[in-house]
Amino acid sequence: MIKKDIFNKDVKEQFKASAKDRLYRFIMADRTIKGAVVHSTRMVNEMRANHELGPLETLVLGQGYIAASLLCSGLKDKNDRVSMSIQCSGPIKGLDVESNMFGEVRGYLKVPKIEVKHPEKIKYLSTLYGAGFLTIRKYLDNAPTPYSGQVALEHGSIAEDLANYFLISEQIPTGFTLSVFFDDKEDVKGAGGIFLQALPGADPSKVNEAEKMIQNIDSLGELFAKGYTPEEIIHKEFLKLEPQFLNNSRIEFFCRCSKNKMKGYLKTLPKEEKKDMMQNGPFPIEVRCHHCNSVYHFSENDLQVL
Ligand SMILES: [Zn+2]
Repeated sequence: MIKKDIFNKDVKEQFKASAKDRLYRFIMADRTIKGAVVHSTRMVNEMRANHELGPLETLVLGQGYIAASLLCSGLKDKNDRVSMSIQCSGPIKGLDVESNMFGEVRGYLKVPKIEVKHPEKIKYLSTLYGAGFLTIRKYLDNAPTPYSGQVALEHGSIAEDLANYFLISEQIPTGFTLSVFFDDKEDVKGAGGIFLQALPGADPSKVNEAEKMIQNIDSLGELFAKGYTPEEIIHKEFLKLEPQFLNNSRIEFFCRCSKNKMKGYLKTLPKEEKKDMMQNGPFPIEVRCHHCNSVYHFSENDLQVL
């Protein structure tokens, strides 16, 4: 992956920002509701820089990245990964995001620019999704085939449609909040999300209470921008359910693509295509990874091995 430097080589700032980007797992209501909270301001800013996104695109894909970072909270084995894909008829068109056991998140919008006539008039993102589907795929080490489930979009909100997915497809009451907070200059100052899930035997009234609490959190991104930590926010918002933190782990915008891997991909192209490429170039040949928008350049010399 070739990551754009958003810290202008300021290593101290970079270190501070990456130390904050973490996923915290907790449990509450007598261990009957599990949860995760993610601080991901750096991840969303790096995603925005690499994919060269405007504010609207950053909001939509940012929510997708935050959702993906929460979805990986339950992965256990080193090759486990989970993906979420949305296909829709509205101007957003769709997105693809995925995360793995190591908290590495990558993904892209189906269109680089969401075409809306009057972006300043958009009150609700839901109008930009239209009809469509949300698909979850889990690739688990201990399962012979990937698991896949799909629901129709009903809300036009990743948080609500994802919650609906878990209810319909996996019969588990689940709640999400996904938040990207912009300042007046349209810079992302805080980003993160919360995920709650009822465990077997959970008291429905407690689950209801938790659902109400998660909906009442104004803007998690803004709270992060003000300097509140994930633990402080969870303890305050869910006080009555007595949350207990279990552990935390790294979250990062990261893709495992490399020039070598891309070369491997070029090798698998049909013979005719390779011949055409070697004869007509134009060199250097550009190969782009759609997950992270890294661009790899190949000279004529690089490609002699094909
Ligand atoms: Zn990549």
